[in-house]
Amino acid sequence: MFKKILIANRGEIALRIQRACRELGVRAVVVFSEADRDAKYVRLAEEAVCIGPAASSLSYLNMPAIISAAEVTDAEAIHPGYGFLSENADFAERVEKSGFRFIGPTPDSIRIMGDKVSAKQAMIRAGVPCVPGSEGELPDDPAQVRKIAKSVGYPVIIKAAGGGGGRGMRVVHTEAALINAVAMTKAEAGAAFGNPAVYMEKFLQNPRHIEIQILADSFKNAVYLGERDCSMQRRHQKILEEAPAPGINRKLIERIGERCVSACKKLGYRGAGTFEFLYEAGEFYFIEMNTRVQVEHPVTEMITGIDIVKTQILVAAGEKLPFTQRQITISGHAIECRINAEDPFKFTPSPGRITTWHAPGGPGVRVDSHIYSNYFVPPYYDSMIGKLIVHGDTREQALARMRTALLETAVEGIQTNIPLHRELMVDSKFIAGGTNIHYLEHWLEQHKR
Ligand code: ADP
Repeated sequence: MFKKILIANRGEIALRIQRACRELGVRAVVVFSEADRDAKYVRLAEEAVCIGPAASSLSYLNMPAIISAAEVTDAEAIHPGYGFLSENADFAERVEKSGFRFIGPTPDSIRIMGDKVSAKQAMIRAGVPCVPGSEGELPDDPAQVRKIAKSVGYPVIIKAAGGGGGRGMRVVHTEAALINAVAMTKAEAGAAFGNPAVYMEKFLQNPRHIEIQILADSFKNAVYLGERDCSMQRRHQKILEEAPAPGINRKLIERIGERCVSACKKLGYRGAGTFEFLYEAGEFYFIEMNTRVQVEHPVTEMITGIDIVKTQILVAAGEKLPFTQRQITISGHAIECRINAEDPFKFTPSPGRITTWHAPGGPGVRVDSHIYSNYFVPPYYDSMIGKLIVHGDTREQALARMRTALLETAVEGIQTNIPLHRELMVDSKFIAGGTNIHYLEHWLEQHKR
């Protein structure tokens, strides 16, 4: 096992990784920007290194500064968390070339999955079902693009090969709008992701977003930890997640889970990963793979009792997966609400000083957050300030616990989306379960204020 790990991230996930390190008896080094000097996990860490000014480009995305911090502190491995450099194959490569272990898959795996076109091709080869669409990148010839769209069938969605975070996508309903939409998505993708390549998929009308969590070691052992339902989205961004997914036949989940496991073995995948699918009319369609720990990993931890972050560290250190598929059991139901510093209905960011913070508690309640009373939410980063996770024996109990927990939670001084979560937890359609990816947007439209 490593003696010392550097955490190359901030916010709640920096604290989450630090907790895993502490349980494993590993010393944690945290890096921080000037804006995060007073963060809780910085104070708690055995060692902390300032890596630059507030702007991410100069700190959390600054590869030389992070690698130097690992060198001066004698860390052996780097955990990238999510976001920032976590899915940057060049970073993973530089980390390993500098003599450290990257806590994640190999640079090659990250590279293949980071390009959605090559990821889909790899999945097709591995026998994972994908959304029907163009075979690879769209050609330049408009006539050919029209021909592909016709064979896929309208509506179609044009997606950037290098896209992420819900950006770089455009839905097209008619042939008249097609060529212009492709050109615009290409231009945006080039500017935002440095890669103008785009591809086409059939736009599924009413799917749910269901994803499979996997864990794999370097000895070709791999397991899946059930699924998560992340269909409650605004602008393709998840706002709450649950596990298991309500109303989906277990046999179907097992079948797709086994496909994911066999794909991992074929690809020689190591570490934690998520296969994201759209699910419609009893069928799963792969859309992308995330090669890192995800924001919503706690719901899976709550229903399986498996610590995903600790397992990431164990397998990165060269250990075998400490469990087999047969030892993994799903128990009860978990829900996660992402707490964002923003106007709950207009979604404008609301950074600033938190004057009061009361965390909820009680059976089955988990709070993953780095905030405290008098903490200043910096305006430079993602607006998520924490996650509220509950577990119950049944979905009904989990919902009841989430309602209670949201009622107990108090954040003052800034605005948060807690009022939105409170309303969603009493919404009859959400309570019934199985809402699709458009449900929240429609709901917001109807509940405009
Ligand atoms: P990102 O990497 O930006 O998160 P994804 O490919 O994972 O992009 O897609 C994000 C979301 O966009 C999905 O959860 C879904 O809501 C929507 N989406 C993506 N592809 C399709 C599709 N073919 N049909 C319908 N919705 C889609």
